[in-house]
Amino acid sequence: MADRDGVIWLDGEMVPWRDAKTHVLTHTLHYGLGCFEGVRAYNTANGPAIFRLQDHTDRLFRSAHILNLTMPFSKDELNDAQCAAVRENNLDEAYLRPMVFLGSEGMGLRADNLKVHVMVAAWSWPSYMSPEAKERGIKVRTSSYTRHHVNITMCKAKANGNYINSMLALNEAISGGAEEALLLDNEGYVAEGSGENIFMVRDGVLHTPELTSCLEGITRATIIDFAKDLGLEVKERRITRDEIYVAEEAFFTGTAAEVLPIRELDGRAIGAGKRGPVTEKLQTMYFDAVQGKLPEHGDWLTLVK
Ligand code: PMP
Repeated sequence: MADRDGVIWLDGEMVPWRDAKTHVLTHTLHYGLGCFEGVRAYNTANGPAIFRLQDHTDRLFRSAHILNLTMPFSKDELNDAQCAAVRENNLDEAYLRPMVFLGSEGMGLRADNLKVHVMVAAWSWPSYMSPEAKERGIKVRTSSYTRHHVNITMCKAKANGNYINSMLALNEAISGGAEEALLLDNEGYVAEGSGENIFMVRDGVLHTPELTSCLEGITRATIIDFAKDLGLEVKERRITRDEIYVAEEAFFTGTAAEVLPIRELDGRAIGAGKRGPVTEKLQTMYFDAVQGKLPEHGDWLTLVK
């Protein structure tokens, strides 16, 4: 990914993609304390637009605050940087990666007197899963890895190091023949996927785990808003894995994964074993919203030009 044309926003200026480098003694590389965002821009009738930009920037700042990182830029500067990263790479649709990390001025866990760096990259990343998965749904396995406990790593922060747990779980799921992992919290209740929140439909009601050990997903919040628009009841509560086995429908949500139906969990078909009608409705609303086709949610889009 490093050897390509384009530009990356690094510490306040655009630098050529190939020159956006950091030293091997970069602190975050050693201990994982940093935070990032995953953001998407979609092509709309008015040109490329970033979906829920302010919400992502707000979460990045919350993550930095939780990790005690002092942001050297303002939220407006970060919003502008993200628009510029899409615009100056001539992208119609893009995945954006803002990241906050500690420099190489010193080593050790005290992590004092280190410079806080910020970067924003944008590139074309059309589909996280296979395009058919959005329709057919995916096979999921409950992970042998437990999701972070709220008092071990900070679940409200989208922290770099938190993703070791996600990658171990995803790799285990894939090597076992599934496409994604379902992680349970330390008490055995459903938390989230490796990079997605989870919803299920039971008796026509939408259920999703409460925000304890799962990330405060922006797609999750979007789906909850759509449910309100549709008059669909939403319950945020503790969920067991066998409730998902017997759910009518289940799906993952995330900026990268978008709205992704789950057709099977641990070898058991969910509902009819394919995308269900509620999932399809919410998925359609999501794709309409990100492309600017839902005027009532037009304020979620920021044009990059
Ligand atoms: N959980 C985890 C662990 C994630 O990495 C993500 C992706 N950011 C999500 C949930 C979904 O969050 P969002 O909808 O804001 O992308």
